[in-house]
Amino acid sequence: MHQFKVVVLGAGGVGKSALTVRFIQDKFLEHYDPTIEEAYRRPITVDGETSALEVLDTAGAEQFTSLNEVYIKAGKGFVLVFSLTQEASLKEVDHLRKQIYRIKGDTGGSIPIVVVGTKLDLVTEREVHQNTIQTLASRWGLPFYETSAKRNWHVSEVFENLVRQMRVR
Ligand code: GDP
Ligand code: MG
Repeated sequence: MHQFKVVVLGAGGVGKSALTVRFIQDKFLEHYDPTIEEAYRRPITVDGETSALEVLDTAGAEQFTSLNEVYIKAGKGFVLVFSLTQEASLKEVDHLRKQIYRIKGDTGGSIPIVVVGTKLDLVTEREVHQNTIQTLASRWGLPFYETSAKRNWHVSEVFENLVRQMRVR
């Protein structure tokens, strides 16, 4: 069986832990300690093939970029998380994306990455518009998903997409 290490990265409070815990344990944590960093394991079956996923939910503040470097070196695939309710959180995704390409030495877009906008259920607080997402998706050449960990919308699709990318790279 394939074993894949996935690293979940993004600014504080965007919903990295909620997304990870929804995927791993199928529950929504309203209040999760922002300082907790944890590696979870779960089998995942995609297109009839089962893989073992290790998902690292990071909790590092932006200034600890040296730690990010350790995670990026260890990871095979990356979930870059921003909040649909916080336009500024996209900047951190751009920064992380560049950091991954720099550290992994990739120029041909062969690193498995999925970009995830969270809190889709908070409709009235939404700041990031669909056309912004479409523009960035084509500029960066990366798949984007809009999710809600609270409502369990499109969470498993994120990890399934990443598994399909990791299998062939
Ligand atoms: P992290 O710092 O990136 O790990 O963020 P958390 O996962 O701890 O989430 C920060 C806050 O946003 C928490 O209060 C979560 O309950 C809330 N949150 C996360 N995802 C969602 C979501 O999909 N919908 C809503 N309504 N709240 C969310
Ligand atoms: Mg967290």
